[in-house]
Amino acid sequence: MERYGFGIDLGGTTCKLGLFQEDGTLEEKWEIPTDTTDNGVHILPDIAASVEEKILQHGFAKEQIIGAGIGVPGAVNDEGIVNRCINLGWGIIPVSKELSSLLGVPVFAANDANVAALGEAWKGSGSGYSSIAMITLGTGIGGGVVLGGQLVNGFHGAAGELGHIVVNPEEPDACNCGNHGCIEQYASATGIVRQAKKRLAESKQESVLRKETDLTAKCVFDAAKAGDPLAKRIAEEVCSMLGRVIGTVCNVINPEAVIIGGGVSRAGDILLDLMQVGFQNSVFHASRETEIRLASLGNDAGIFGAMKLLLNKDK
Ligand SMILES: [Zn+2]
Repeated sequence: MERYGFGIDLGGTTCKLGLFQEDGTLEEKWEIPTDTTDNGVHILPDIAASVEEKILQHGFAKEQIIGAGIGVPGAVNDEGIVNRCINLGWGIIPVSKELSSLLGVPVFAANDANVAALGEAWKGSGSGYSSIAMITLGTGIGGGVVLGGQLVNGFHGAAGELGHIVVNPEEPDACNCGNHGCIEQYASATGIVRQAKKRLAESKQESVLRKETDLTAKCVFDAAKAGDPLAKRIAEEVCSMLGRVIGTVCNVINPEAVIIGGGVSRAGDILLDLMQVGFQNSVFHASRETEIRLASLGNDAGIFGAMKLLLNKDK
């Protein structure tokens, strides 16, 4: 009898779902909108209804369903209780317990960036490695750590918050987390734009970036690749900071590989090249050769990781 599981990646606007075979083969994936009205009370019932519908469609027997894993945008403790998801309108919600009682099968929850790291470690750029750190450069910066094939969740469910490693305590502006000078303020998509605008304002140097009406992180890297000196300096600056953070992470956990994901990682090899200076200046000599690679699962990392979370717990 074939057994199946669901990998769920819950975001603030859409929720991605995947139906997987027990061996990790993705059968089907789809999305539903995330309804954040009424403090997000409809979110879990909507997910449950969509999963039930899929089970019916395929005519699966209850015994064929192992359960579900879910990544949520907030800190989740080992009991699967999430502590405030601002973009979902949630306070303290026992996600695993609630979704499990709606579906009648085991459900395991963890932080979305941690789950994405587990996905890359399992079926993406980290497959074949037992320990990786992943850093996701999106609107913000997320992270996750997998050691010995297992996700490191942390006592408060807040392990792998690599985006909030402070690189500049003198930073006058506050990060979204309330601290000052987190790497997220410099090397996220929004951070790169902020840094570029600052450098453009400070300098009189000519740059193609001055002509951009909608300046994005992609513009900065494209211009740097094309040889624009100011864009190159901005890219070097943010990548060097990122490299230092990755070196610091390696000094703590010494992983086999570090995976860079998220929209900004589409800049490609230039990112990896420019990062090396900061990395080599902060990493302990024994870890200098640590492999740093780009992620490969894109937006599917979350559903794969959620399925792996389920499989890891279902033992
Ligand atoms: Zn922060």
